Amino acid sequence: MRIRYLPETLINQIAAGEVIERPFAAVKELVENAIDAGASRIDVSISDGGKSQIIVSDNGSGMSREELVASVDRHATSKLRGDDLLDIQHMGFRGEALASIASVARLSIATREREGDGSHDAWAIKVEGGKKGEVVPSSHPEGTQIEVRDLFYATPARLKFMKSERAEFMAVKDTLIRLSMANPHVSFRLTHDGKENFNHPAVLDTQGRLAKILGREFGENAIAIEAEREGLNLNGYAGLPTLHRGTSQYQYLFVNGRPVRDKLLHGCVRAAYADVLHGGRHPMLALFLDVPRDLVDVNVHPAKAEVRFQDPALVRGLIISALKHALHEHGTRTSSSVSSAALGRFEPANNAT
Ligand code: ADP
Ligand code: MG
Repeated sequence: MRIRYLPETLINQIAAGEVIERPFAAVKELVENAIDAGASRIDVSISDGGKSQIIVSDNGSGMSREELVASVDRHATSKLRGDDLLDIQHMGFRGEALASIASVARLSIATREREGDGSHDAWAIKVEGGKKGEVVPSSHPEGTQIEVRDLFYATPARLKFMKSERAEFMAVKDTLIRLSMANPHVSFRLTHDGKENFNHPAVLDTQGRLAKILGREFGENAIAIEAEREGLNLNGYAGLPTLHRGTSQYQYLFVNGRPVRDKLLHGCVRAAYADVLHGGRHPMLALFLDVPRDLVDVNVHPAKAEVRFQDPALVRGLIISALKHALHEHGTRTSSSVSSAALGRFEPANNAT
C-alpha cells in the first residue's frame, strides 16, 4: 500500500460532510456570507425543505470577476486580516463553505459589485460536483445571488442523512430566525415552495426583532437580563419558569453576535433554572453574551456552532448568577409589573409555520 494524496474534490466532499451536513447548514453559510458582505436585505427561497433548491439573494457588496472565481476555491477568503486566528470581524474565515457546497451540489453564483467599488459589471459562474465552469457576463443587480440545487447529488451516501421536507424546512427556518435575531438591522424574508413564510423588515434594535419573532406571550413572561463581569457582558430576556417548553429549541443563545448551540451555555441555563423548573422542561430565553475577542475562539467548530472560552468558569459564573438573580428578584414582585417594565413593545406572535 502506498500513501496517496486525496484528490481536491474528495477533500472538499469530506469537508462538506462537516460544514454543511444538511440544507439548514448551507443556508446558514450563505446567509452569513451575505451578512459579511454588508447586505441590508437578505431573501432566502427554498424548495422541498432546501433539498432540491436553495436561493439566497442579498444587496451586499457583490464580487468582482476575480473575487467570484476565487470565492469557490477551498481556503479562499477575503476575511482574514493578517494571520491572527482570533481577530475575527466577520462571521467566518474558514474559506470552505462555497468550495464544500460546490463539491456536493450544483452551485451557481451571479454577482455585481456595488457602484463605486470597481468595474461595476455583473458576472456569473457555475460549479457542479466540484467542476468549475467559465465566468460569463450576467445582468444581476448590485449584490449577490447564490443558488444551490440538488444538495448532495454528488455524494448519494450523504443523501440518506436528510430528513423529511418538513423537518428540513423547520431547521432552515430556525437557523434564519436565529440569524435575524442577531442582525436586527437586516431585513430577512423566507419563502418555501413559492409561499412566503416570514418577512421581517429591518428594525432599529434587538428588542424590536425579538418582539416580532417571539411575540406577546414571551414578552409578558420574560425578565430583562443585564449583567457584566470582568469585561464580559450579558444581555437579553429570560422567560419565567412558568413559560416552559418540551425542548431547548426556544433558547436563543448568541456569542459576539453569532448564534451558537454551545453545550457549556445550554448547561448554564439548565443549572440556573434547576431549582425552579422540574426536569424535562426547558425555559425560553434569548441571551446575548459579549466577550472580548481574544478570550473566545469562535472558529473551533466546522459549522461554527460551538465556541471555546478561555475562561469557562467566568462565563458560567456570570450567566448562572445573572439568571438566578433575575428569577429570584422576580419571585418577590408581581408579574404585571415585570411585563410592563421589561417588554412593553412586544407584539402578538407572527410566527405560524
Ligand atoms: P469565508 O466566508 O469563510 O471567507 P466562503 O467559502 O463562505 O468562505 O466564501 C468565500 C469568499 O467568497 C468570501 O470570503 C467572500 O469574499 C466571497 N463571498 C461569498 N459570498 C458572498 C456574498 N454573498 N457577497 C460577497 N462576497 C461573497
Ligand atoms: Mg462564509
